[in-house]
Amino acid sequence: MEEEQEYLFKIVVIGDSAVGKSNLLSRFARDEFDHNSKATIGVEFQTQVVEVDGKEIKAQVWDTAGQERFRAVTSAYYRGAVGALIVYDITRSTTFDNIKRWLDELNTHCDTTVARMLVGNKCDLENIRDVSVEDGKNLAEEEGLFFIETSALDSTNVKTAFEIVIHEIYKNLS
Ligand code: GDP
Ligand code: MG
Repeated sequence: MEEEQEYLFKIVVIGDSAVGKSNLLSRFARDEFDHNSKATIGVEFQTQVVEVDGKEIKAQVWDTAGQERFRAVTSAYYRGAVGALIVYDITRSTTFDNIKRWLDELNTHCDTTVARMLVGNKCDLENIRDVSVEDGKNLAEEEGLFFIETSALDSTNVKTAFEIVIHEIYKNLS
């Protein structure tokens, strides 16, 4: 009998408060969007099965549940992570300026092999854009990250963002 290997990838979602982390996760895991930003108390992570290369992969995606508001994202949150989405809000440049801080924090808790995706969320709000696509791309290139713009509201690129990270993690295994 053939042994079925289990693939379980822990992926963390980080970034400033209100950039849309929880909604990216609920869009990915349940195809839901929540207009009221309420803290997701008690929900630490959600698991979604993705197929890569004919293999079933469990993506265990973690949400900060509002800890970032108090600069209190714990090391337990990062422990064992093999992928990360580092999220900013394209309508608020301060959230983009803080990406470097989040990268520093990620680097202190995880090793450099973690698959990283820079995510500019809320791309449905083009009319009030505050960070250009070019600036996002340039930062990603400088820091060696994948880059994508998403909308948790209208679903643009949400699945793709997670899938690219999952593929990269899988690729790094072999
Ligand atoms: P978090 O604090 O990073 O987890 O952010 P939330 O997911 O709670 O979202 C913060 C606010 O932004 C909420 O009011 C959401 O409805 C809104 N939001 C999240 N994602 C999007 C998006 O893609 N587009 C728009 N227009 N609003 C969004
Ligand atoms: Mg949240």
